[in-house]
Amino acid sequence: MRTKLIAGNWKMHGSKPFIESLMKGMTEQLDASLESDVLVCPPTIYIPFVESLIGDHKIALGGQNLSEQAQGAYTGEVSGDMLKDNGCQYVIVGHSERRSLYGEMDVLVAHKVGKAIESELTPILCVGETLEQREKGTTMQVVQQQLDAVIDALGIDALQQVVVAYEPVWAIGTGVTASPEQAQEVHSAIRAHLRDKNAQIAEEIKILYGGSMKAANAEELLAQPDIDGGLIGGASLKADEFIAICKIA
Ligand code: PGA
Repeated sequence: MRTKLIAGNWKMHGSKPFIESLMKGMTEQLDASLESDVLVCPPTIYIPFVESLIGDHKIALGGQNLSEQAQGAYTGEVSGDMLKDNGCQYVIVGHSERRSLYGEMDVLVAHKVGKAIESELTPILCVGETLEQREKGTTMQVVQQQLDAVIDALGIDALQQVVVAYEPVWAIGTGVTASPEQAQEVHSAIRAHLRDKNAQIAEEIKILYGGSMKAANAEELLAQPDIDGGLIGGASLKADEFIAICKIA
């Protein structure tokens, strides 16, 4: 049985007062009986601040990105070890915004997944197709290529340490959500693709859905057999919404 993971991707949002009130809302409403794992991924500079606000609460911390390098003269970059050193257990890798706005290609993403694992972080590997690719009928081809880049670089066993997030690009921040059937179809195809390489990994790997998930649609999405949680952007900036999704999970 795979435990559900609800991850908040705050992107480049927030300020100290905003984060303080968001975390207050979350820690107050989060009850100990919660069965799902809860994760927040703040902007890097706020990670230590969020760590101090989490205190003893069962909320995990993650980065939104990491360098593909371990250390050195890479101005502006943050390494996996630095995230780990500041309380992170997870890191988002290959988010579609990184891919489309910052030119991160499959090979670089694979490299970053490897660096995250070396730093003992769980990478959340984001994959997903654009609207154009979906309309052309190439969704699975695109997603498999993104997964295979990691498998080719690191070997299938590396996926034991990885969480996958299926995030159709057309659903991110648009208010348009993939229907539960559309999402399940891709999630199950991802698992089938991995099953061909290693049945146990395919069974155990968590596959999150991301793209306009909110309290109102979380129940249907999370009820799908191959959806193991959510990677949530907009709705993770509202404590009530985010906690509601965690409770549904
Ligand atoms: P969204 O973002 O929930 O605002 O669509 C999801 C994501 O980009 O991870």
